[in-house]
Amino acid sequence: MKAPAFAYARPASLGEVFTLLAQHGDGARLLAGGQSLLATLNLRLSAPDILIDITGLPGMAGITIEKDTLRIGALATHRELEHSHAISHHLPLLAQAVPHVAHIAIRNVGTFGGSIAMADPAAEYPAVCVALDAQFVIAGAKGERRVAAREFFKGMYETALRPGEVLVAGEFRIRPEGYRSAFIELARRHGDYAIVGLAAQANCSDGKYSDVSLAFLGAGGEPVLARATAAALEGKAFGADTIALAQAALAKELDPPADLYSSSATKLHLARVITGRALATLATLAAAT
Ligand code: FAD
Repeated sequence: MKAPAFAYARPASLGEVFTLLAQHGDGARLLAGGQSLLATLNLRLSAPDILIDITGLPGMAGITIEKDTLRIGALATHRELEHSHAISHHLPLLAQAVPHVAHIAIRNVGTFGGSIAMADPAAEYPAVCVALDAQFVIAGAKGERRVAAREFFKGMYETALRPGEVLVAGEFRIRPEGYRSAFIELARRHGDYAIVGLAAQANCSDGKYSDVSLAFLGAGGEPVLARATAAALEGKAFGADTIALAQAALAKELDPPADLYSSSATKLHLARVITGRALATLATLAAAT
């Protein structure tokens, strides 16, 4: 199938984007890498009047560090993230997640901001951003605002973005020494969206877990932060007993809805399995340094 006819604009500034969005309202769609949007057009799931190509906008690309904050521009491609030394060094959890995003051809053009704005419940970045307690920078005609990732994802394909707004960047606090991370995903084939996945980070000093973040993908309409399970792990020593305790806590906390391929019980079972693997990985990484 072919996309329905649409107009196309390639503004040179955010100001022009806001004007176009105000003019066209719900008939306009922002176009970044097009890897999700163009598929919905071709399948005629969406029929916008105009696509506003934001790929030429200044100040929305690149990966920069200022003091203890790493900033990823919305237009940074998946491939740029994959090859970024700053990300592999300072955000190893995100570095581990990127190769799970689709395939190289898609990663060459798909963008960080497009994935966040799309908010697919089985996508990798939203869960990583929730686990890392990232902030999103959002621009609108009246100025900029910041929204915590933990407040941003509102449900399946729903976010805190308001009409007329553009996601500009994600900001991540660089953690001090002692933190370890593990990203584990189960998918039918590598590069497919996850059946279930886990972005895990913890301070692993002195043979114990503390300040634990466990964010699941594919386990709800938005990334699911397992707060009670993380709290149960606080101050616990590495080992099989602690892993069993976390898996028991998760069974009480997580209630993943079934999807086309997996029942709720299957997803919960898989989530408990990858929780065990992630906690064991964190302990191994801590022991290796
Ligand atoms: P686009 O397709 O251009 O836009 C997507 C949506 O976001 C549109 O509604 C657009 O208006 C909006 N948007 C884009 N940028 C902004 C912005 N800065 N501010 C506000 N709104 C914005 N993704 C995964 O995470 N994991 C996968 O395993 C995966 N597998 C895939 C497999 C296939 C075969 C394909 C085609 C895609 C897959 N994707 C996967 C999606 C891919 O990661 C996309 O790159 C990403 O979801 C969207 O990024 P994009 O830049 O292409 O955005």
